[in-house]
Amino acid sequence: MDEPVTPIHKEKKFIVFMTCLTRLLTWCHCPDCGSVDISTCHNVIGSLLVITLSCASCYKKVTWNSQPYIGSTPAGNILLSASILSPGATAGKVLRVMRTMALATISSRTYFRHQRSVLLPVVQRVWNMFGSYTMLELHANVVIDIQLVQVGYQYLKKFMSRVEIT
Ligand SMILES: [Zn+2]
Repeated sequence: MDEPVTPIHKEKKFIVFMTCLTRLLTWCHCPDCGSVDISTCHNVIGSLLVITLSCASCYKKVTWNSQPYIGSTPAGNILLSASILSPGATAGKVLRVMRTMALATISSRTYFRHQRSVLLPVVQRVWNMFGSYTMLELHANVVIDIQLVQVGYQYLKKFMSRVEIT
Protein backbone atom coordinates (compact mmCIF):
# COMPACT_ATOMS: atom_id res chain seq x y z
CA MET A 1 0.00 0.00 0.00
CA ASP A 2 1.39 3.41 -1.00
CA GLU A 3 1.92 5.99 1.71
CA PRO A 4 0.02 9.22 1.17
CA VAL A 5 2.22 11.82 -0.49
CA THR A 6 2.58 15.05 1.48
CA PRO A 7 1.68 18.04 -0.69
CA ILE A 8 4.79 20.05 -1.46
CA HIS A 9 3.53 23.17 0.35
CA LYS A 10 2.95 21.15 3.55
CA GLU A 11 6.28 19.30 3.50
CA LYS A 12 8.58 20.39 6.36
CA LYS A 13 11.44 22.69 5.40
CA PHE A 14 14.50 23.61 7.45
CA ILE A 15 17.12 26.30 7.74
CA VAL A 16 20.42 24.56 7.00
CA PHE A 17 23.73 26.25 7.74
CA MET A 18 26.42 25.87 5.05
CA THR A 19 29.02 24.69 7.59
CA CYS A 20 26.67 21.90 8.74
CA LEU A 21 25.95 20.84 5.16
CA THR A 22 29.65 20.85 4.29
CA ARG A 23 30.31 18.67 7.36
CA LEU A 24 27.67 16.22 6.12
CA LEU A 25 29.23 16.14 2.65
CA THR A 26 32.53 14.93 4.12
CA TRP A 27 30.75 11.61 4.66
CA CYS A 28 30.17 11.20 0.92
CA HIS A 29 32.05 8.76 -1.23
CA CYS A 30 31.79 8.00 -4.95
CA PRO A 31 28.98 5.47 -5.63
CA ASP A 32 30.93 4.08 -8.62
CA CYS A 33 34.53 3.67 -7.40
CA GLY A 34 34.21 4.29 -3.65
CA SER A 35 36.74 7.14 -3.62
CA VAL A 36 36.40 9.73 -0.89
CA ASP A 37 38.31 12.26 -2.99
CA ILE A 38 35.22 14.27 -3.86
CA SER A 39 35.21 17.92 -4.82
CA THR A 40 32.12 20.08 -4.57
CA CYS A 41 30.92 23.26 -6.15
CA HIS A 42 27.68 25.00 -5.37
CA ASN A 43 25.29 27.32 -7.15
CA VAL A 44 22.49 29.35 -5.58
CA ILE A 45 19.23 30.24 -7.39
CA GLY A 46 17.07 32.22 -4.99
CA SER A 47 16.43 29.86 -2.07
CA LEU A 48 17.69 26.84 -4.04
CA LEU A 49 21.14 25.37 -3.41
CA VAL A 50 22.56 23.15 -6.14
CA ILE A 51 25.66 21.14 -5.23
CA THR A 52 27.68 19.29 -7.84
CA LEU A 53 29.85 16.50 -6.47
CA SER A 54 32.75 15.36 -8.65
CA CYS A 55 34.88 12.27 -8.10
CA ALA A 56 38.60 12.96 -8.60
CA SER A 57 39.28 9.28 -9.38
CA CYS A 58 36.65 8.31 -11.97
CA TYR A 59 35.28 11.79 -12.81
CA LYS A 60 31.67 10.81 -12.07
CA LYS A 61 29.49 13.85 -11.36
CA VAL A 62 26.30 13.98 -9.32
CA THR A 63 24.08 17.00 -8.85
CA TRP A 64 22.02 17.47 -5.69
CA ASN A 65 19.21 20.05 -5.34
CA SER A 66 18.12 21.33 -1.94
CA GLN A 67 14.49 21.42 -3.06
CA PRO A 68 12.24 19.92 -5.73
CA TYR A 69 11.08 21.83 -8.78
CA ILE A 70 7.57 22.82 -9.80
CA GLY A 71 7.91 22.75 -13.57
CA SER A 72 11.15 24.63 -14.19
CA THR A 73 10.89 26.74 -11.01
CA PRO A 74 12.51 25.78 -7.70
CA ALA A 75 9.59 24.92 -5.40
CA GLY A 76 10.96 26.96 -2.49
CA ASN A 77 11.11 30.10 -4.61
CA ILE A 78 7.51 29.98 -5.80
CA LEU A 79 6.24 28.80 -2.38
CA LEU A 80 8.02 31.74 -0.77
CA SER A 81 6.25 34.13 -3.15
CA ALA A 82 2.90 32.45 -2.47
CA SER A 83 3.54 32.53 1.28
CA ILE A 84 4.21 36.26 1.15
CA LEU A 85 1.15 37.02 -0.99
CA SER A 86 -1.49 34.81 0.65
CA PRO A 87 -1.44 36.36 4.17
CA GLY A 88 -1.00 39.86 2.69
CA ALA A 89 2.58 40.29 3.92
CA THR A 90 4.91 42.89 2.46
CA ALA A 91 7.50 41.35 0.13
CA GLY A 92 10.09 44.04 0.92
CA LYS A 93 9.95 43.38 4.66
CA VAL A 94 9.93 39.58 4.43
CA LEU A 95 12.83 39.51 1.97
CA ARG A 96 14.77 42.08 4.05
CA VAL A 97 14.40 39.84 7.13
CA MET A 98 15.73 36.90 5.14
CA ARG A 99 18.69 38.90 3.77
CA THR A 100 19.48 40.20 7.27
CA MET A 101 19.69 36.61 8.45
CA ALA A 102 21.86 35.74 5.40
CA LEU A 103 19.23 33.29 4.20
CA ALA A 104 19.38 32.58 0.49
CA THR A 105 16.24 34.13 -0.96
CA ILE A 106 14.58 35.44 -4.08
CA SER A 107 14.78 39.08 -5.14
CA SER A 108 11.79 41.39 -4.97
CA ARG A 109 11.87 41.44 -8.80
CA THR A 110 11.43 37.63 -8.81
CA TYR A 111 8.61 37.93 -6.25
CA PHE A 112 6.71 40.39 -8.48
CA ARG A 113 7.34 38.20 -11.54
CA HIS A 114 5.86 35.20 -9.68
CA GLN A 115 2.95 37.34 -8.53
CA ARG A 116 2.20 38.57 -12.05
CA SER A 117 2.78 35.37 -14.02
CA VAL A 118 1.58 32.62 -11.64
CA LEU A 119 -0.10 33.73 -8.42
CA LEU A 120 -2.56 36.40 -9.53
CA PRO A 121 -3.85 34.28 -12.46
CA VAL A 122 -4.57 31.49 -9.92
CA VAL A 123 -6.38 33.92 -7.61
CA GLN A 124 -8.39 35.18 -10.60
CA ARG A 125 -9.33 31.61 -11.61
CA VAL A 126 -10.51 30.74 -8.09
CA TRP A 127 -12.41 34.02 -7.88
CA ASN A 128 -14.20 33.16 -11.14
CA MET A 129 -15.16 29.68 -9.87
CA PHE A 130 -16.62 30.82 -6.57
CA GLY A 131 -18.68 33.71 -5.37
CA SER A 132 -19.31 34.82 -1.82
CA TYR A 133 -22.59 36.23 -0.62
CA THR A 134 -23.03 38.11 2.62
CA MET A 135 -26.28 38.87 4.42
CA LEU A 136 -26.05 42.10 6.39
CA GLU A 137 -28.41 43.69 8.89
CA LEU A 138 -27.74 47.29 8.01
CA HIS A 139 -29.43 48.94 11.00
CA ALA A 140 -27.49 46.85 13.54
CA ASN A 141 -24.41 46.76 11.26
CA VAL A 142 -24.13 42.98 11.74
CA VAL A 143 -23.08 40.22 9.32
CA ILE A 144 -25.80 37.54 9.67
CA ASP A 145 -24.46 34.95 7.22
CA ILE A 146 -21.67 34.39 4.69
CA GLN A 147 -21.99 31.73 1.98
CA LEU A 148 -19.36 30.65 -0.50
CA VAL A 149 -21.08 29.42 -3.66
CA GLN A 150 -19.56 27.67 -6.63
CA VAL A 151 -20.87 29.20 -9.83
CA GLY A 152 -18.98 27.06 -12.33
CA TYR A 153 -20.62 25.53 -15.38
CA GLN A 154 -21.54 22.23 -13.68
CA TYR A 155 -23.30 24.08 -10.84
CA LEU A 156 -25.22 26.27 -13.25
CA LYS A 157 -26.24 23.24 -15.34
CA LYS A 158 -27.53 21.42 -12.23
CA PHE A 159 -29.27 24.56 -10.99
CA MET A 160 -30.97 25.19 -14.35
CA SER A 161 -32.22 21.57 -14.59
CA ARG A 162 -33.84 21.93 -11.16
CA VAL A 163 -35.52 25.16 -12.24
CA GLU A 164 -37.00 23.47 -15.31
CA ILE A 165 -38.47 20.61 -13.23
CA THR A 166 -40.26 22.80 -10.70
ZN1 LIG B 1 34.54 7.70 -8.58
